[in-house]
Amino acid sequence: MTTFYHSTRSAENSVTSKQAIMTGIAPDGGLYVSDQLGEKNLDLATVCSQGFHDTARLVLGTLLPDYTADELASCVAGGYGAQWDAPEVCPVSPLGDDWLLELYHGPTCAFKDVALQMLPRLMSAARGADGRRVMIVTATSGDTGKAALDGFAGVEGTGVTVFYPDGKVSDVQRLQMVTQLGSNVAVCAVRGTFDDCQGEVKRIFADRGLAGRLEERGVALSSANSINVGRLAPQVTYYFDAYAQLVRRGVVRMGDEVTFCVPTGNFGDVLAGYYARRMGLPVRRLVVASNANDVLTDFLSTGTYDRRRDFHKTISPSMDILVSSNLERLLYFASDGDCELVARLMGELASEGVYTVPERVMARIREVFSCGRADDADTRATIRRTWEELGVLIDPHTAVAKCVLDGVEADGSARVCLSTASPYKFSADVLGALGEVTDGMNGFACMDVLERLTGTTAPAQLSGLRAEPVLHEDVCDRERMAAFVESACARVFL
Ligand SMILES: *Cc1c(COP(=O)(O)O)cnc(C)c1O
Repeated sequence: MTTFYHSTRSAENSVTSKQAIMTGIAPDGGLYVSDQLGEKNLDLATVCSQGFHDTARLVLGTLLPDYTADELASCVAGGYGAQWDAPEVCPVSPLGDDWLLELYHGPTCAFKDVALQMLPRLMSAARGADGRRVMIVTATSGDTGKAALDGFAGVEGTGVTVFYPDGKVSDVQRLQMVTQLGSNVAVCAVRGTFDDCQGEVKRIFADRGLAGRLEERGVALSSANSINVGRLAPQVTYYFDAYAQLVRRGVVRMGDEVTFCVPTGNFGDVLAGYYARRMGLPVRRLVVASNANDVLTDFLSTGTYDRRRDFHKTISPSMDILVSSNLERLLYFASDGDCELVARLMGELASEGVYTVPERVMARIREVFSCGRADDADTRATIRRTWEELGVLIDPHTAVAKCVLDGVEADGSARVCLSTASPYKFSADVLGALGEVTDGMNGFACMDVLERLTGTTAPAQLSGLRAEPVLHEDVCDRERMAAFVESACARVFL
């Protein structure tokens, strides 16, 4: 078997991509990387002559070489089928002089669908013939939970359990989760905060007694978080496919370089752009856009990553992150695979909360990456300006990227702003940015007003929620979460 992946912190003990996808994180705490990345370029003429599905098969076949062509074809057909409300899957549309890459046409209206409609299918294929079953356990502050539920619902040999903090997610987010269909899904509100939920999920993963009891039933627990190779690889597809769309529109000639601006949290999305570049995509620059949690802007400017700072709650909550886990992979590649260096820096981050990257590595990073930040006021102003001047309605995460891109000096290359969520997922904040008063209005009332005000239409996946029956009403204390997981396993895997 081809062993392709090893830890960022040690080159020993290689695993196949199927094993990397099943285990998520390497045993030493590092992230799985492959030294073959960039050895073989994708053929750009082929990419430009085909659609999203063919490019997805090509990209996944390159990054996950131990899957058979048949396995990948079936994963791609299932993952990017009729649950997407755009035939292109991820269409590119005009944004003034720039371009918008719309990643929000999936079942939960956020870009995480691109990866989370694929990961469950990749896991199911990786399970192989031994009949092992996996229960995904996730704590969510709102968005990831629904994307995981929708991705894993109905996928053979898998189950998914989601915990969210009771009363601390929006009406729309709660309804998205509690109306989820599927005999292999479980949802429970927890009396406490998101940190309580996440802390307990971490403890559940480390609970040897629970693991032993589940193993007797042939069940293993796993997570679906964004450091999994099975989430990263699918995201590479849309960089290549967006380029192909621009070539077909006559905006760029094949071989011309393109700049991408990416609203960034855990560094997964923008890292996929870096992978695409290493696989031969002509990328001029990757612009990392941050909100008020600007740890990455400081890092790229100074070379010092310092998480010892205040956490800001913003109107782009999926980017409210102080430790961008996937950055570890960039450090690996930019240091030419210096595992010792990566292990030392990550050790310093864990013990001191800060590390400084050698200048030669930073120079390599700055050849490709630019950065910028936008606070909530900038974000609101950008939503309003983009609507009033360009007639394009964007969500707060996309607006962070648009604001940062507007501040980057044009260099003649075509520029693409990644759009990571439907504006209707954040109707209240978008309405507020447009100058409307939303006091006392629930999520659906805001959706209605936003439709009337802009003449745009809310995605059916969101507006239809108010008519759907609530299927999950469990609420528990933190102490009961492990028992909830165990009973969910018993119910899902009989
Ligand atoms: C997760 C998310 C992001 C951040 O993506 P990363 O891969 O974590 O950098 C940006 N916008 C939205 C809407 C998201 O859900």
